[in-house]
Amino acid sequence: MTESSAVQFDRVSVRYGQVTALRDFSLDVATGETVALLGPSGSGKSTALKALAGFVRPTSGRVLLAGQDVTGVPPHKRGLGVVVQQYALFPHLTVADNIGFGLRARRMRRAESARRVEEMLELVGMERYGRRYPRELSGGQQQRVAIARALAIRPPVLLLDEPLSALDAQLRADMLDELRQLRDELPDIAILYVTHDQTEALTLAHRIAVMRDAELLDLDTAQGLYRQPPSEFTAAFLGGANLLPATVRDANGTVDVGAVTVNAMAPGPLVPGAHVRLAVRPHTIGVRRDGSGLAAVLTGLQWRGANYRLTCLIAGLDEPGGVSVHADVPSVDGLPRVGSPVRVRLPEHGAAVVARAGAASTAGDAGESFPQNLAGVA
Ligand code: ADP
Repeated sequence: MTESSAVQFDRVSVRYGQVTALRDFSLDVATGETVALLGPSGSGKSTALKALAGFVRPTSGRVLLAGQDVTGVPPHKRGLGVVVQQYALFPHLTVADNIGFGLRARRMRRAESARRVEEMLELVGMERYGRRYPRELSGGQQQRVAIARALAIRPPVLLLDEPLSALDAQLRADMLDELRQLRDELPDIAILYVTHDQTEALTLAHRIAVMRDAELLDLDTAQGLYRQPPSEFTAAFLGGANLLPATVRDANGTVDVGAVTVNAMAPGPLVPGAHVRLAVRPHTIGVRRDGSGLAAVLTGLQWRGANYRLTCLIAGLDEPGGVSVHADVPSVDGLPRVGSPVRVRLPEHGAAVVARAGAASTAGDAGESFPQNLAGVA
């Protein structure tokens, strides 16, 4: 922990009766930084946010804002900006009054408050909508107002809980661009962004905290986690990597996958002969009718608009039923039909060695951090 952190979770646990929603969670977020809490539904992301906002009381541990312990402080005294999925605007107030709500509560002078509201409307591109009521706005516009309202008090910390998940796909993409821009316009704020959507996390976050089973599993820069995933879970959850069994050939990251040898990125020196997993992104895999590569059978072909997703079953690789991989390719010209033999080509560079966790990792295992649980790292 550092003094300069805007937000600190210090070994926070939250239990609801028998359910542990958050276990021993520690995280620092600096001013100017956006951290995404990314994980599947039920992994504890919202609970972490609620503990910080003061909506739930930690069973143990502390939350700090700018170095001050606020664990027992009521939510309205924490001075945070909060945006949730369902906008939660006041239906009987105009857009301007919604945005100014927190300012009135803080007894800001009328003229100053009006100026601030204008500034916020401009920030979210809603200048002409101040007199409207929430019911007269689209979902995306309502969410912009909710963001403007959260920012009006100039909070040092902005919490966003799945803010785009109620919007349709196109609007979500547009709003994601806007949020990214907003992030860059707000250098004095720390942002904590809860999402189960990897694209949102990769687009917005400086760092991503991957959550699983109520615990923080991996934490790194968005690029770091994507390029060198520390765990199989993160490799698969962030970017849908294939995980292939591999054997280390030399310490620098040369590994064998069946009869094929590739140079992979490794988190540290590897132990020759060790069994590891290789994370390979679907768009880096090539599939051919013949030539070099791993012998496989094409078991599935799906058109996805921009590309085709092929599923190939690679025989052997020390797995009883073979190993199924996904490959995303721009065209299927020259490919045989589903059920026919193919050759799977792995990228010569760019795949990453990750931990080879036990097939059924327990929640306890998940807490062990890399590289301690990485079989084969020296
Ligand atoms: P996420 O935000 O990652 O979807 P949550 O933090 O909402 O996950 O929930 C974590 C776990 O805590 C889940 O198992 C969920 O069912 C449980 N949980 C959340 N809120 C409550 C509550 N108020 N009472 C009981 N269990 C809860």
